Amino acid sequence: MTDRIREFLRNRREEGPCVVVDLDVVRSNYSALAHALPDTRVFYAVKANPAPEVLSLLAELGSCFDCASVAEIEMAMAAGATPDRISFGNTIKKERDIERAFNLGVRLFSVDCKAEVEKIARVAHGAKIFCRILCDGAGADWPLSRKFGCVPEMAADVLEHGHRLGLDAYGISFHVGSQQKNVEAWDSALASASAIFRECAERGIQLSLVNLGGGFPARYLQDVPAAEAYGEAIFRALSRHFGNSIPDTIIEPGRGMVGAAGMIEAEVVLISKKSEDDPVRWVYLDIGKFGGLAETMDEAIRYPIRTPRDGDAVEPCVLAGPTCDSADVLYEKTPVLLPVSLAIGDKVLIEATGAYTTTYSAVAFNGFDPLRSYVI
Ligand SMILES: *Cc1c(COP(=O)(O)O)cnc(C)c1O
Repeated sequence: MTDRIREFLRNRREEGPCVVVDLDVVRSNYSALAHALPDTRVFYAVKANPAPEVLSLLAELGSCFDCASVAEIEMAMAAGATPDRISFGNTIKKERDIERAFNLGVRLFSVDCKAEVEKIARVAHGAKIFCRILCDGAGADWPLSRKFGCVPEMAADVLEHGHRLGLDAYGISFHVGSQQKNVEAWDSALASASAIFRECAERGIQLSLVNLGGGFPARYLQDVPAAEAYGEAIFRALSRHFGNSIPDTIIEPGRGMVGAAGMIEAEVVLISKKSEDDPVRWVYLDIGKFGGLAETMDEAIRYPIRTPRDGDAVEPCVLAGPTCDSADVLYEKTPVLLPVSLAIGDKVLIEATGAYTTTYSAVAFNGFDPLRSYVI
């Protein structure tokens, strides 16, 4: 926890769980990522944390923005980004939203099939398209599975279709899976990308861009490699597969940009056992899966938890949220070690919660307010 967050929480008077995001950490993450890949442009994935203060800081630092909807495009523009610094990176877009984005000046669109190419060709003539290819997400704690992207063998056809319809067939994208802890994960996708570049060249289409996606991790319970290690591995893979003609590249960090910048403060509402001889205690917080901790689904992301009694003897506990839905259990398969002395009313801190929390929080499930956010 940063001193600024500690100081902020000490002076906070309002009730209820909140996340506090320290812009100094965002600033240093931006500079670490930008330095790790000095020839690569950074497109911050807005969905990770769209707080206006975060977007304005990044716009000021020179970041571009990866947006998934017209609303996100408008947020990036309100923060000071010009449309040439924005990509519409969602492969699933309504035609009228493509048109709105185009009218706002956005020219860079993602596709993974011919039907999406046709929508863009109808309403965004001359726009640049990049084709997303599938990645298996191996090595990632939050793999993005088969929802996005086509098999690499199909990409040249998709791009050629766009080329024939008057679009600028511009490049390839992929996402190696979020919280990707293997720095070599980009290698096989880059091998596929270079094969698609060659295939397109044979068809008279010169691709320019490889969008390397996100995947850069935040530190949760385990150490993760530094941004520099990712930069070096990615540069080696680019050289291996593209030789002397390395394409333009962009990265789209979300979690790696803001995850470590945030800290949630929550309160212990109840501690109980299911029977007198239950070996584990149940600890219920005033925040759960519906209050912003959706990424605990399948216990995929394991957040570090601090209590005011750290240092005392610990025992395994099931950790759950406050709502009346039985899915609202954070960690049960692998219980959390918490101090035996932990008491109802104690404040706990949930670390590295700057990404994928505020936006995942329900509006009013059981009447609980959405996660309050402070950016300092
Ligand atoms: C969510 C998303 C990202 C950000 O991924 P992280 O793993 O959080 O860095 C980047 N690109 C696209 C297209 C995404 O959907």
